[in-house]
Amino acid sequence: MPAYKAPLRDLQFVLHEVLDSSSHYQSLGASEASRDMIDAIMSEAGKFCEEILSPLNKVGDDEGCTFNQGEVRTPTGYRQAYQQWVDNGWPSLAQPEAYGGQGLPDSIGSVVSEMVSGANWSWGMYPGLSHGAMNTIEMHGTPEQKEVYLTKLVSGEWTGTMCLTEPHCGSDLGTLKTKAELTSDGSYSINGTKIFISSGEHDMSENIIHIVLARINGAPEGTKGISLFIVPKFLPDGTRNEVQCGSIEHKMGIHGNSTCVMNFDNAKGFLVGPENSGLKCMFTFMNFARLGTAMQGVASAELSFQGALTYAKERLAMRSLTGVKAPDKIADPIIVHPDVRRMLLTQKAFAEGGRIMMHDAGFLVDKVKSSVSDDEKNEANELLSFLTPIAKAFLTEVGTEAANLGVQVYGGHGFIKEWGMEQIVRDNRISQLYEGTTGIQALDLLGRKVLMSQGQSLRRFTKIVHRLCKSVGSSSPHKAMAKRLAELNKEWGDVTMKIGMKAMTNRDEVGGASVDYLMYSGYIVMAYYWLRMALTAQEALSEGASETDFYNSKIKTAQFYFARILPRTESHKISMLAGVDTLMALDEAHFSF
Ligand SMILES: Cc1cc2nc3c(=O)[nH]c(=O)nc-3n(C[C@H](O)[C@H](O)[C@H](O)COP(=O)(O)OP(=O)(O)OC[C@H]3O[C@@H](n4cnc5c(N)ncnc54)[C@H](O)[C@@H]3O)c2cc1C
Repeated sequence: MPAYKAPLRDLQFVLHEVLDSSSHYQSLGASEASRDMIDAIMSEAGKFCEEILSPLNKVGDDEGCTFNQGEVRTPTGYRQAYQQWVDNGWPSLAQPEAYGGQGLPDSIGSVVSEMVSGANWSWGMYPGLSHGAMNTIEMHGTPEQKEVYLTKLVSGEWTGTMCLTEPHCGSDLGTLKTKAELTSDGSYSINGTKIFISSGEHDMSENIIHIVLARINGAPEGTKGISLFIVPKFLPDGTRNEVQCGSIEHKMGIHGNSTCVMNFDNAKGFLVGPENSGLKCMFTFMNFARLGTAMQGVASAELSFQGALTYAKERLAMRSLTGVKAPDKIADPIIVHPDVRRMLLTQKAFAEGGRIMMHDAGFLVDKVKSSVSDDEKNEANELLSFLTPIAKAFLTEVGTEAANLGVQVYGGHGFIKEWGMEQIVRDNRISQLYEGTTGIQALDLLGRKVLMSQGQSLRRFTKIVHRLCKSVGSSSPHKAMAKRLAELNKEWGDVTMKIGMKAMTNRDEVGGASVDYLMYSGYIVMAYYWLRMALTAQEALSEGASETDFYNSKIKTAQFYFARILPRTESHKISMLAGVDTLMALDEAHFSF
């Protein structure tokens, strides 16, 4: 497993130089979030990730979690690392001061979360899910629930989970069967089985707070009859609740994180939010988890890139086609070969392009929560809701591509366990599945977000892209990139219209086009961010910045992205406009093997 190195300089570039963190935090009134303070937090978090979490990544993969009579033991070192995490106050970083938090904006938590994810995704899922539970209780809980649960989650003494999936349903939660019955003391008796519950049982915290979807007796069928409950492992008075882990899964990857079957057997639950509004309230958790999963894609691309780059500079094989580059060695390092560079640059473009997408999304989360202007809040909310399915599905798809390229750069050694490159592929593969598969995210984007808003959500974003492209003057060295982005930005609207027209006569056209549409959109969104990075780097160079290598590398990676990655939009466009007929023509009975 490559040792993780926190990408501090790149984070500084993204946050301070491109996204202008100072103006952002000032506009929120969070003046304590100064550049120096953010740098200090990043540096401390980076140290923890490099020194404590990264070495446990392979241990977690090798040992996995173990299950014994309802109890789960996490891999060696996980519990101690969690205790250190709590002792250092990390769980409370971006949580409300009223409940013991440090009150910093969410986006700062998101920067720390990127590093944790890169160093050890499986470990990071334990505090990650707690964070989602905190957001949900903060947003929808009663003052008493906040006092009892939020305080302990913020301190890190307790952790949280998200319980949606059941044996027969994951994507289609409208069919869930877990029941809730009102009892005489005003709580609910919860009965049912949830599966695949991440961090459902473990030995890292003294209590586990499950956030559970269930249907109150007599509630309507479908998504309109679902309610949300807090179901603690230990009740506030210390008695053990009737929620038990029945077993854990044996999985392709993320071995260090427990994936649990959770049995609720007359477990005491407490309603969160109004009756039958559970799915709506759970979206607070799900949207957070979707962005968290998108981060997994970025983190995997980064870690795999770090491993591949180190290897490509050391591994010797054949000579460069344009003449010997390392005459003192028996062969040249493989980084001289164009195809190896293609792989490395693809990883780099996805890792760094994904990073800025995620941290800009973090700034939008801040605005939704804390902007002083309602207009700005609404605008940020709509942008975030448009960008979330793109970030979740696109960044996890390209994250897996980047992780696979990391294996490829290592040649046969990439396939061998001790190098750890194959672990990154196995660990990241789940990111395309949980929190809504790529297919489900694509339907959300095209069907719900774009077409149902008559294209308004798309136009909100394309206006921003249009403004950026227009701002690039004819004398700019990046005018060709701006021109290409402007063309695609216009085309995006045109293809959306075409699919929308077809969908008026056949709804299946949406499902037939959706994944290509999502990937097409993802490549354009990432191009927008690469252009922004190139322009910022150019400005720094023209102002005489001394780190010329750093800034030139940004510009050259942007040029690579536009020349070699962005053309993928063309094939996605052709596929999505090809119509659904060839997908539906084969009769189900004629699918045979
Ligand atoms: C390791 C792991 C951890 C997990 N952690 C959690 C957790 O903490 N909490 C939790 O609640 N769940 C968790 N899950 C569950 C996960 O979110 C679901 O597995 C996922 O949402 C997919 O649901 P499913 O498995 O039921 O697949 P299905 O819904 O059965 O989907 C099967 C396939 O059909 C496709 N499909 C379904 N409907 C449509 C449609 N309308 N149009 C097009 N395609 C469609 C899907 O895209 C997919 O390819 C976890 C799963 C795993 C494996």
